[in-house]
Amino acid sequence: SFFLHDKVGLITGAASGIGLATAKIFLEADIKRLLLVDRTQEALDRALKQLSPDEMARCDCFVADVSSEEFNYAEHALQRWGRLDIAVLNAGIGNEPTSILETDVKVWDKIMEVNGRGAFLGLQQCARAMVSKKSGSIIITSSQLGLQGSPLLSAYGASKWAVRGLTLTAAEELTPLGIRVNSVCPGPTVTPLIDDMKGKDGEGWHRMADATLMKRLGEAHEIAKAILYLASDAAS
Ligand code: NAD
Repeated sequence: SFFLHDKVGLITGAASGIGLATAKIFLEADIKRLLLVDRTQEALDRALKQLSPDEMARCDCFVADVSSEEFNYAEHALQRWGRLDIAVLNAGIGNEPTSILETDVKVWDKIMEVNGRGAFLGLQQCARAMVSKKSGSIIITSSQLGLQGSPLLSAYGASKWAVRGLTLTAAEELTPLGIRVNSVCPGPTVTPLIDDMKGKDGEGWHRMADATLMKRLGEAHEIAKAILYLASDAAS
């Protein structure tokens, strides 16, 4: 079923955009316990304010920089609730559009650190928390730009290919241990991540919408529904 009744889950990058929309839909699908992971307590507090008292009571927050091994949010969920069934590794950052000729290698390093290293660390700690139960579902947020080229976004695009490649390898290694691993590849979706691409009078967004088959930008709740499917037993 698409319901998450007895399940314990966590979401990184849960304070905003696709992560927050996923948290809301998991709570609507009756998830038992949910750990919201993001960079700052303030951002997490703002996210909590959007939930009902019953939803809030099922959540716990964890402040972490996903790119640092100092933070083990999967272990925290396991200690607190005795199990971990679902992990959505979604935290990510973008970069300002710049040609390869002009991109500073520091930009490359920063993007890879959060989007690449962060996803690897999350995958490792969540798989370690799931393996004793021989079950679990891990979903990593890649991107349409992890399926095609990404002019002016070389570091971002490469990081999203990296996490999709990591997903395929993880699926091969972890499926025999009972853990499903998938990635989602959203097209351009309205969240704070693409705010600075809006341009004057929204023409940047119009161009992005025009390049899609639907001729519109996606909404975070639409991506969240695909993530819900992959997290649930419906995707067994
Ligand atoms: P967003 O900026 O609204 O949310 C991203 C969240 O991740 C933020 O709350 C941010 O604080 C958190 N985060 C960033 N770095 C972190 C770190 N080091 N540690 C912990 N948390 C961190 O953006 P979004 O669009 O919801 O992005 C979510 C995911 O979706 C990202 O991986 C992004 O690359 C991917 N994505 C977005 C789009 C789009 O068009 N919006 C398209 C394809 C893929």
